[in-house]
Amino acid sequence: MKPKPNSQTRNLVLVLGDQLNPDSAAFDGFDPAQDAVWMAEVAEESTHVWSHQARIVLFLAAMRHFRDDLRTRGVTVHYRELDAPDNTGTLHEELLAALRELSPQRLILVEPGDWRVREQLRGAAHGVELRPDRHFLCSSADFATHVQNRKQLRLEFFYREMRRKTGILMTGNEPRGGQWNFDADNRAAFGQAGPGNVPLPTAFPPDARTREVMTLVRTRFANHPGRLEHFDWPLTPAQARITLDDFIAQRLPHFGRYQDAMWLPSGNQPSRPFLYHSRLAAAMNLKLLDPRVVIAAAEYAYREGAVPLASAEGFIRQILGWREYVHGLYWHFMPGYAESNALEATAALPAFYWTGDTEMNCLGTTIRQTLEHGYAHHIQRLMITGLFSLLLGVKPQAIHEWYLAVYVDAVEWVELPNTIGMSQHADGGLMASKPYVASGKYIQRMSNYCTGCRFDPAKATGENACPFTTLYWDFLMRHQPYLARNQRMGMQLKNLNRLTERTRAAILKQAEMVKASCA
Ligand code: FAD
Ligand code: SF4
Repeated sequence: MKPKPNSQTRNLVLVLGDQLNPDSAAFDGFDPAQDAVWMAEVAEESTHVWSHQARIVLFLAAMRHFRDDLRTRGVTVHYRELDAPDNTGTLHEELLAALRELSPQRLILVEPGDWRVREQLRGAAHGVELRPDRHFLCSSADFATHVQNRKQLRLEFFYREMRRKTGILMTGNEPRGGQWNFDADNRAAFGQAGPGNVPLPTAFPPDARTREVMTLVRTRFANHPGRLEHFDWPLTPAQARITLDDFIAQRLPHFGRYQDAMWLPSGNQPSRPFLYHSRLAAAMNLKLLDPRVVIAAAEYAYREGAVPLASAEGFIRQILGWREYVHGLYWHFMPGYAESNALEATAALPAFYWTGDTEMNCLGTTIRQTLEHGYAHHIQRLMITGLFSLLLGVKPQAIHEWYLAVYVDAVEWVELPNTIGMSQHADGGLMASKPYVASGKYIQRMSNYCTGCRFDPAKATGENACPFTTLYWDFLMRHQPYLARNQRMGMQLKNLNRLTERTRAAILKQAEMVKASCA
């Protein structure tokens, strides 16, 4: 239905799909008697990258739940559904039409999270009142101050600054436990016995509203990647809170230790895509949950003695540290950041990224899980799909589009720096001190993927050579002059220098075969 003309509208509050917070700055001074909300589902948000069906459902279903909740509170919501016959499919056109019909005195909006959307809205609505996004603990201005006069940006400097500023996990001026960072305690693998009985996360079976969206998405985006059979994500603030409480009680105690571990259940063990991770990223990114609440819950659990400090710190670092850091970086360095390609990588993304159809067990498992659930945990993203793309030399913008498409929690401000900076080193080390490169032996150490694989992670050449191991050495040879400028690559280059000319030549030949098979 088109919005009805409403000559009474004083302020029209535009709420985007990742701004589902009734306490945001857009609602300051909101008067339901004179003001109204406008929201629109537009196809371009699902097609500008080839979005996973679960990602589309998550956004649309959460938006419709938010709309329903506002209406229950007596708020007028002008809502454009995706399947309205005259829906133009673009935010720009929909907004122009709404402004013509509603003629509000003022259009109000919280700063959009993505550069692309902000530019689009600026073009559509001159004079729009942009209000600050209070969701983040570090504003863009504070981040700019942090950047000023620094030769080098590093998470660790930023994170310590945030700890001091907020007092989180601090005793006076000192970090709790006498250490800023328990990263070294956060790298355990499960070992032969596997993860045991990891408690299953609370699931939210789709209600009628969500099922209606699922039907719409299955019809409208039938050729999009991903499946919906397992869709059970939190879609409302209440469900997000339940997910948080369940995580703190059931999984946070082991989160720190096992956050990097990966595991593929064998035999009749049930599939376990969710280990000790929180599954909270999507809820936070849609603003269903405030990061302060998440951090406070983890800190409280530690202070009560329910979780070890290494786990609480490891988890809080992800949110107070990484999440705020990538947000600051994104806004400070866009739009140029998106085009970075320091390693001049040009290869196309292998087609199996969209199917999981590869003999490499680690990649096949991670991609199939991603297609089924719209989820993979951080190390699966960084050290399986990201690592292979980096070693192969995939164009950063191609793998960026893939990451933005396939995860339910994917929004550009967080996805782009993680991909361009952390995973692909395309920003030349602006974000992370060295490329995250490793051979198949790292994957063997951190998972059981290699056990069921036809390749051997120890071999770089020969019939059953692991493509990760082959490409690892190829990468070091390809970029040796560049990497030699980085002290932190010293050990890896020293090992490279031990290879004989004959071995190098054999690796280069094998790498060409791997590349040809991925083209
Ligand atoms: P947990 O492992 O339980 O971590 C807790 C929370 O910390 C997360 O919910 C998230 O909010 C935050 N967090 C953890 N690591 C990071 C990080 N590196 N950067 C920012 N926040 C972090 N995260 C997204 O939210 N959206 C994305 O689109 C996204 N794309 C990524 C792409 C790549 C290539 C990589 C390497 C990482 C990406 N991440 C992204 C970061 C991280 O992998 C996910 O936040 C996390 O896996 C989500 O699962 P979880 O909620 O169970 O997180
Ligand atoms: Fe992956 Fe290589 Fe291990 Fe196979 S052997 S699972 S390709 S790391």
